[in-house]
Amino acid sequence: MNRKPFEIVILSGKGGTGKTSLVAAMAGFTGNCVFADCDVDAADLHLIFQPQLLKEESFPSGSKAVIDQQDCTSCGVCMDLCRFYAIQFSHGQYAIDPFACEGCGLCVVACPAEAIRIEENHLNALVYSHSRFGSLVYGRLGIGEENSGKLVSEVRKNAREKAVQTGADWILVDGPPGIGCPAISSVTGADLVIAVTEPSRSGWHDLERLLEMTGKFKTPVGVVINKYDLREEMSEKIEKALEQRKLPVLGKIPYEEKVVQALVEGKSLPEALPDHPLTGVFREIWEKIERMAGDI
Ligand code: SF4
Ligand code: SF4
Repeated sequence: MNRKPFEIVILSGKGGTGKTSLVAAMAGFTGNCVFADCDVDAADLHLIFQPQLLKEESFPSGSKAVIDQQDCTSCGVCMDLCRFYAIQFSHGQYAIDPFACEGCGLCVVACPAEAIRIEENHLNALVYSHSRFGSLVYGRLGIGEENSGKLVSEVRKNAREKAVQTGADWILVDGPPGIGCPAISSVTGADLVIAVTEPSRSGWHDLERLLEMTGKFKTPVGVVINKYDLREEMSEKIEKALEQRKLPVLGKIPYEEKVVQALVEGKSLPEALPDHPLTGVFREIWEKIERMAGDI
C-alpha cells in the first residue's frame, strides 16, 4: 500500500462481545501493522500480545481540589457549596474526597481563607511496547480515574505517529465499548469501523445505537456477528436488517470455547490452533476488511 496508514477501529455497543479476541485473531494476518488498545477501562490486548515494554509516560488525569489544613478556619462554606458532596467533615477537619471531586474549582473561589488549591493529577499512563505482531500502544487509567476520551485520543495519536515512523500499512484499534465520549474519540478521523455484535435483542439494540453514532461521522462500517450460531434466527434477522441498510456483514464467528482457552494462555486462536476451521473464518474476515479498505 502506498498511502498513509489505514486506520481501522473495532467497536461494540457494549463490552464482552469479542472485540479484543477478534483484534488478536486478525493480528497474525495484518502484516505491517501498529496496534492501539483504546479500551482503556479494560485494556487487555497486552495480556495476549505479551509485549516488551518500551516506555511509559504519565498522562494528565484531571484536577482535584486540596485543602491546606494550616489555613483552613473550619467555616464549612466549601462543604455547603460542593454539589458533588466531595467535601466531608471528619476527625475535626474538612477534607476532600479525591474520588468524588470533579475539580470544578468552586470551593477554591468561595473559600474565604484561600485555603483550597487545585492540583493536576498525572495518574493515567500511556504505554509504548513492541510485540511479536508489531508495535502496541495502550492507555492505563489510574485508580478511580475515568476515561474521558482524552486518553483514547492520545493513544490513537501516538499509534498514528508510530505507524508513520515505521511505514506501517495499517493501524488496528481495539476501541472502547459503548457510544460515549471514549467511543466517539476513537471514531473521529478513522478510515473504517468494524462493529462487533452478538445475536440477541440487546445486541441488536446496542448495534443500532452504535451505527447511529458512527453514521454521524460518515465513517464506512462493516459488521461482524460473534457467536452467531448461539441464536441463528436472531443472526439472520440482524443480517437482513443490515442488508436493508446496505451495511456489509464481514463475517460470522461461531461459538468456540477454545478461543477463551487460547486467550487465557496468552495466544490468539490462529496461534494456538492454526488448523482449526475458525482460523480460516478469522483469515476471511481480515481479507474482506482488506478488500473493503481497497475500495474506500
Ligand atoms: S471554605 Fe475554606 S476555610 Fe472554610 S472550611 Fe472550607 S477550606 Fe476551610
Ligand atoms: S473542586 Fe468542585 S467538586 Fe471538587 S471539592 Fe471543590 S467544589 Fe467540590
